[in-house]
Amino acid sequence: MPELPEMEHYKNMLIDRIKGAVITDVQINRPKSVNKPPEEFIHYVKQQQIIRIDRRAKYLLFYLDNGFILLLHLMLGGWMYWGTNDDKPKRTIQVQLNFRDNHLYFIGLRLGYLHLLTIEEANQVLSNLGPEPLSFNFTLNDFLEALANKGGKLKSALIDQNFISGIGNRYSDEICYQAKLLPMRSIKAINNKEAEMLYKAIQTQLKTAIESGGYLKHPFYKQDVATGSYEKEFRVHDREGATCERCGAKIVLERIASRNTFYCPGCQT
Ligand SMILES: [Zn+2]
Repeated sequence: MPELPEMEHYKNMLIDRIKGAVITDVQINRPKSVNKPPEEFIHYVKQQQIIRIDRRAKYLLFYLDNGFILLLHLMLGGWMYWGTNDDKPKRTIQVQLNFRDNHLYFIGLRLGYLHLLTIEEANQVLSNLGPEPLSFNFTLNDFLEALANKGGKLKSALIDQNFISGIGNRYSDEICYQAKLLPMRSIKAINNKEAEMLYKAIQTQLKTAIESGGYLKHPFYKQDVATGSYEKEFRVHDREGATCERCGAKIVLERIASRNTFYCPGCQT
């Protein structure tokens, strides 16, 4: 599932292409991917200008000039493609937004969705999300305070969207590795020095992944080479049996917090 870096990367590419642009047409091939009857959805979206695009956690928000918001969550398997009819991937398109000759295709929206909401409704959906880890007002002190009120395992906390938003299964493994902490460590047993390492690991990990275009394997547009460059940078995730480049031990796969979790038993403590 795309996490904060993938969605931030999408957001940046979308701002370059469709901020200020008018949606000239809408096609809904899978009504379940939207939250209104297709005619109603199209009525409120067609001919609207996109005035702003934001990311919150793993969501993208497209602000329309009529005051509505399109709230996107790609969930498992969802992705987007930008291009003309000729460039279109040979895949089933669930929803399509047209911008004259270029189109934004939403693909693999099975669990994922594109919902038309009022600002109040969108705020309601997003109201329980934890802080944005890369926000300038998410300080080390905030993080230490939040940790002090949290129990359970480190892995569970990192992927808990109400605790801290945007981190999922992949980056939580990498963050634990960067911080040299075991994912099954009890939060209560993490000391301040380790918590500081963890805070730094969260920042560094997410920023580096954004700069490298995240891990999603599908290009966003023709000749896109930036998207997915981070895939080869994973140190532990999905590398069971590989050699840890820091200590030489073998990477282990274990089920933690109901997720397949990868870590190095040699240098994470
Ligand atoms: Zn190691």
